[in-house]
Amino acid sequence: MYDSSGQEESPSGNTLPEYDPRCYLCPRNKRSGGAQNPDYQGTFIFVNDFSAVKEDQDDYESAESEEKSSLLLKAEGVKGKCYVICFSPAHNKTLADMSVKEISVVINTWQNLYRDVQQNTPFRYIQIFENKGESMGCSNPHAHCQAWTTSHLPEEPAAELHNLIEYRRKHNSCLLCDYLAVELEKKERIVAENDGWLAVCPWWAFWPFETLVISKRCIKNILELEGERDVELFAEIISVITTKYDNLFETKFPYSMGIHQAPLRGTDEEHAANHVHFHFLPPLLRSATVKKFQVGYELLAEPQRDITPEQAARRLQALSTDLYRNKLEGSS
Ligand SMILES: [Zn+2]
Ligand SMILES: [Zn+2]
Ligand SMILES: [Zn+2]
Repeated sequence: MYDSSGQEESPSGNTLPEYDPRCYLCPRNKRSGGAQNPDYQGTFIFVNDFSAVKEDQDDYESAESEEKSSLLLKAEGVKGKCYVICFSPAHNKTLADMSVKEISVVINTWQNLYRDVQQNTPFRYIQIFENKGESMGCSNPHAHCQAWTTSHLPEEPAAELHNLIEYRRKHNSCLLCDYLAVELEKKERIVAENDGWLAVCPWWAFWPFETLVISKRCIKNILELEGERDVELFAEIISVITTKYDNLFETKFPYSMGIHQAPLRGTDEEHAANHVHFHFLPPLLRSATVKKFQVGYELLAEPQRDITPEQAARRLQALSTDLYRNKLEGSS
């Protein structure tokens, strides 16, 4: 099937081995840069062999002059470091396949990295994100995320932070705390919740099954999670969302996911205005193989919704948190 709003994607079954000798993320294997992975248990973090931003980037000299070109074409050098974090040694396990305990280890790794780069590097921001699935351009199914630390605040979190600060100045209140209260009261877009987190299809959702997951406490960064229980609640909501996603079209659901939080370095106001949350941006629309495209009118004029966030939330909320793959295995 092929139509204006969807394209056939190959559905991914669960036929992967637990260890793949050709995978550059599996334990003990050699990476193309020449380094050998340790025989790791739990998570494994390393600096990307092909980082998009580098620590030793030359300063960019932009010529100051009266010429039009220097008025229009402004550039700034960006320094940074890119990390890769494998979620587990298992080649065939995604977040949806992992236990809450195993996901907690991933969160602890994120926390340790945040603390480490905040204390030991000059960088301003850390963007933790996961690109999952071939349709998202991720060629290796071994579950992993990336963390890019940069000397500047990137555009997305900068735009959000700008709005959080404006709202705080105007209303003397936190935008995301207020939004959380509205969603909890309306109960129209809730996908899942626990004592620590609320997951909704946001009011402004662009992707059909996009979710926004907001911390119920107004914490500014992931270091402000208090103790094991907070981390467990975080892990649990990740487990619930990723499992529901996989169950939706009975496939390993592709998405880009990322955490937004306070900059590593910033003003007191920038810190105070923040509120930890994360986004799942998945492209699938109607089945495991039909995805939404952002083209034509959507690129040139404005986004269109294929389904409302209320419809998407209802469907996701109704889904089981027992992974379909496990049921299939159990019944065979
Ligand atoms: Zn692997
Ligand atoms: Zn808040
Ligand atoms: Zn955000």
